Amino acid sequence: MTDQPAVTVLCNALLFDGLSDQLRGPVDVVLEGQTIKEVVDGRASVPDAVEIDVAGRTLMPGLIDAHVHLMAVHLVASKNLDTPLTLMTAKALPRIRNMLERGFTTIRDVAGADFGIREALATGLIAGPRAFIGGPGFTQTGGHADHRRKTDSVRERDRNANGVDNFARLVDGPNEMRIAVRDELRKGADHIKLMAGGGVGSPHDNIDDYQFSEEEIRIACDEAAMRQRYVCAHTYGSVAVQRAVRNGVRTVEHCNLIDAETAAVVRDCNSFVVPTLVCYEITEKHGDDLGLSPFVMEKLRYVNDAGIKMLDLCEAAGTPMGFGTDLMGEMEYAQSYEFVIRARVQKPVDILRSATSINAEILQQSGKLGVVAAGAVADLIVVDGNPLEDIALLDGQGENIPVILQNGRIYRDRIGATQKDGASHAKGAN
Ligand SMILES: [Zn+2]
Repeated sequence: MTDQPAVTVLCNALLFDGLSDQLRGPVDVVLEGQTIKEVVDGRASVPDAVEIDVAGRTLMPGLIDAHVHLMAVHLVASKNLDTPLTLMTAKALPRIRNMLERGFTTIRDVAGADFGIREALATGLIAGPRAFIGGPGFTQTGGHADHRRKTDSVRERDRNANGVDNFARLVDGPNEMRIAVRDELRKGADHIKLMAGGGVGSPHDNIDDYQFSEEEIRIACDEAAMRQRYVCAHTYGSVAVQRAVRNGVRTVEHCNLIDAETAAVVRDCNSFVVPTLVCYEITEKHGDDLGLSPFVMEKLRYVNDAGIKMLDLCEAAGTPMGFGTDLMGEMEYAQSYEFVIRARVQKPVDILRSATSINAEILQQSGKLGVVAAGAVADLIVVDGNPLEDIALLDGQGENIPVILQNGRIYRDRIGATQKDGASHAKGAN
């Protein structure tokens, strides 16, 4: 990272602003400190600015991934039982930095990360995206995130002594739910995660199961709303999804197995689907080698086959979709392949909106994140080429992203910024 320049101008850019159907430009985008000051058609007149001549490349908001697990350093969850939190944190650091290298300037962690990691990122102590965190995911006894062995009979364990317990909090009954939500909000959670249905990686449940009573779900949503926060829920099947959104859940994650009626119910409840298709496709490729059990592999194939159909249903119903990836452990390299998978069904611009302005709305940050507009946070990336025509430009490890700015700071500049002295060019002199 370089020192904070007072004013930075990104010149000669073709702009995807996070909302519009088409590129606009050429424009100059003027940043002051951490904020976008203005977007100027043609040339801006700014003396003493640091200039990056984008030279007709695409400028767009930094990407947002709304479903990651920063701390999920193992694909096989039970391996975390032998991993102390210190080692887990050390192993997580490169995977966190890699997300920023791919152009993700913001992520939402939906189980595992705590306010400590958020603060380390916010203060620049470690490199990586800005993080919105929810602490551990809530699971009922025997639910998706209850990774105790059948031979375990003790409920309470030494929380945080190993990695597993940082990912999951056992919650049973309305009163415990109320206390647990209040407790995580006390610790600064940006949202609450409920495991409201069966999952792929869990040893004790079926994928079509639905979990938590409706009363428990409703209490979680009420308590979160009282603090201007919200609940996201892990769900696959129609029953689990409808129970979640009808009781106040704001984002339903995965949703691979839903039907057309359920896609419409999510829309009508003003909720969002957050697909995470890449995790199934990539994990199915490598899962056998990495030690997933046959039971888990069978569930994985089942949801992978259904995922693309779910995109079709949500497109047809006009259900708002965020953008997530959910990659564990060694699979994390494939994060940006989600763009390519989504393009089998969706137009590139719709996928880009999901990964910018819609995800910002999910994060309760509309107008601040996920857009290039006056007053927004200066999280910006420059893309070689036009991702509205070829979204695969974003795939890989950021090779086609020569410039990354986060919070107005230049994290990567492969073009070469120059310092301008005095009024270098007049406004409108294009
Ligand atoms: Zn997940």
